[in-house]
Amino acid sequence: MKITKVTPLVLGTTWRNLAYFKVETDEGLVGYGDARAINKTQALLGYMAEAVPYYVLGHDPFNIEMLVQRMMREDYARAGEVAMTGIAVIEMACWDIIGKALNQPVYRLLGGAVRDKIKVYANGWYRVERTADAFHAAAKKVIEKGYRALKFDPFGASFYDFDRQEMRITTSLVEAVRDAVGPDVEILIEMHGRFTPSGAVAIANDLASFKPGWYEEPVPPENLKALKKVMDAVAPLGIPVATGERIHTIYEFRELFELQAADVIQPDITHFGGLLSMKKLAGWADAYYMLMAPHNVAGPVATAAAYHFAAVTTNFMIQENFNDFDAAYVNESAPGLPPVVEGYVALPDAPGLGVTVDEDVIAAHPGQAMHFNLFQKDWHKRDMTAGEQ
Ligand SMILES: [Mg+2]
Repeated sequence: MKITKVTPLVLGTTWRNLAYFKVETDEGLVGYGDARAINKTQALLGYMAEAVPYYVLGHDPFNIEMLVQRMMREDYARAGEVAMTGIAVIEMACWDIIGKALNQPVYRLLGGAVRDKIKVYANGWYRVERTADAFHAAAKKVIEKGYRALKFDPFGASFYDFDRQEMRITTSLVEAVRDAVGPDVEILIEMHGRFTPSGAVAIANDLASFKPGWYEEPVPPENLKALKKVMDAVAPLGIPVATGERIHTIYEFRELFELQAADVIQPDITHFGGLLSMKKLAGWADAYYMLMAPHNVAGPVATAAAYHFAAVTTNFMIQENFNDFDAAYVNESAPGLPPVVEGYVALPDAPGLGVTVDEDVIAAHPGQAMHFNLFQKDWHKRDMTAGEQ
């Protein structure tokens, strides 16, 4: 079997562009991948325009290891976020094709399921005013949708500078969410790399009484020794530290493992070269008793891929999902994902990745010029039509 054609399709959602790639073969089988390249959709399309004719066309989709190896090495330059995203969407589409060719869900081809349901958490649910009442009401709706875990960044547009007034507002938001969801629901605190090590530790202590399930990216992602300082200070609280969505290759994870600078790692399948790279990383993480909680801000195809990874990974913890809190057409662009019931989804059982892309839905909502800035006031509303962009 040979790949004969790769076609990009961009879906414009309310706050991000999702890039889908349709991969066709000479045997008539078709696979898809999707990804969100933050503020770099055109860069991803440009990379693919160069890479696909050279590496992908004519390649047998069953030979995934060779394809990923060539795409990572033969450009000579180190593969960063854009390249690892392009590699991932093709890799994901190859698994979709293989599963369809063999009439098996992908998880059955990656070692088989180690669980019969997958724990998920909600994100993107707090697109409301930054008040305790509004966050309380929004958190209640998350529970009504079937989730038993949710993540949020209560810190506004902060970067390094974080005063007592901001801490008071933040504390009121976390308190409101804990009150709304009760004691048994996991609340995960997202810090988006906003703080210095000492600032992050002070905040971690202040919020500890609300029993967060983790503190995520307490410091910016480049300096893992700084993260280790936070980890050492937070460990006595018994609250895990999570990071990894801005690390793109197994080589870049080496220092994190050597330092044991996190409890939970969060690579994003769509920025990490795909499922096989994730499986290699999971094995390495397991040696340090670290859990995998993959980041996922992409569309339903990538979410399906994440569920297959979760199904086969012994040290999997929980899977992120944004799309139940966006416009309905996002999930409708590729129906087939299992629904969230009491905090879990079932394994996707259809052949391949298990979702069916509806190109008409994507065509009806084309990509648009937008810029997502997490350090801008009211970014959490994810309204790309309002305010300065
Ligand atoms: Mg994050």
